Amino acid sequence: MGSHGTEKTVTGWAARDPSGILSPYSYTLRKTGPEDVVIKVLFCGICHTDLHQTKNDLGMSKYPMVPGHEVVGEVVEVGAEVSKFEVADTVGAGVIIGCCRECAPCKADTEQYCNRKIWTYNDVYTDGKPTQGGFASAMVVDQKFLVKIPPGLAPEKAAPLLCAGLTAYSPMKHFGLMDAGLRAGVLGLGGVGHVGVKLAKAMGHHVTVISSSDKKRAEAVDHLGADAYLVSSDEPGMAAAADTLDYIIDTVPVSHPLEPYLSLLKLNGKLILLGVINQPLQFLTPMVMLGNLHTATS
Ligand SMILES: [Zn+2]
Ligand SMILES: [Zn+2]
Repeated sequence: MGSHGTEKTVTGWAARDPSGILSPYSYTLRKTGPEDVVIKVLFCGICHTDLHQTKNDLGMSKYPMVPGHEVVGEVVEVGAEVSKFEVADTVGAGVIIGCCRECAPCKADTEQYCNRKIWTYNDVYTDGKPTQGGFASAMVVDQKFLVKIPPGLAPEKAAPLLCAGLTAYSPMKHFGLMDAGLRAGVLGLGGVGHVGVKLAKAMGHHVTVISSSDKKRAEAVDHLGADAYLVSSDEPGMAAAADTLDYIIDTVPVSHPLEPYLSLLKLNGKLILLGVINQPLQFLTPMVMLGNLHTATS
């Protein structure tokens, strides 16, 4: 990499078409601005959204595209006005690397809701160049969009927390689902579901993993410590579990019926939709109204 203030050439793994195949790709990072931090990428998680984007499942992919938005890196250079980070710090970057800084969500430190936010990759930065993600040797990130990784946390374990972890944790906090003793359902045991089970267990919840087959039972119960495992096609099992859950983290990233899962919720239960689904979802409103249920995304 070059010296401070020059454009740096880096190598990433880029998708060049919707085949799902990545190949080496060289490009330049922007010059280090006053609030910019240059990081050497140490680890980067793979999120299902990376798969969606590389394969153009959402219909908005621009190639070449370097995916990766669960990035842990080491600070190697800081801009003149960077106050939060120093060279050699271990830091994390997630799915957003820019915002307008002027709208109400930005001023309230909730820039994830900014209508002009800039995604970590497959977007255009303020300099007009495409943004590229963490499947690369280095990135430049504004200090506002970096977090410090605490010393006791292994960087490879921190990486998945920067999207999957936040995706599961944020609604739990937002909807007041932090008290011990709650009964949780986790629908789908991919990346977000995996972290969802761990977080819910850490909060002292009774966790039921719900899946379409029996394949992940051992992983859920023996490896992750789930308390129960329910196969969604097991009608007697689903009937027996009706009205038992305080909330469900629904991580399924494809269109699926919601009624079977709504029926598992107690009065005032919450169905939290976290899968990125590019088709409309349907459900019958009386089920939600009569149980005073809540469906929400996060
Ligand atoms: Zn993600
Ligand atoms: Zn904004």
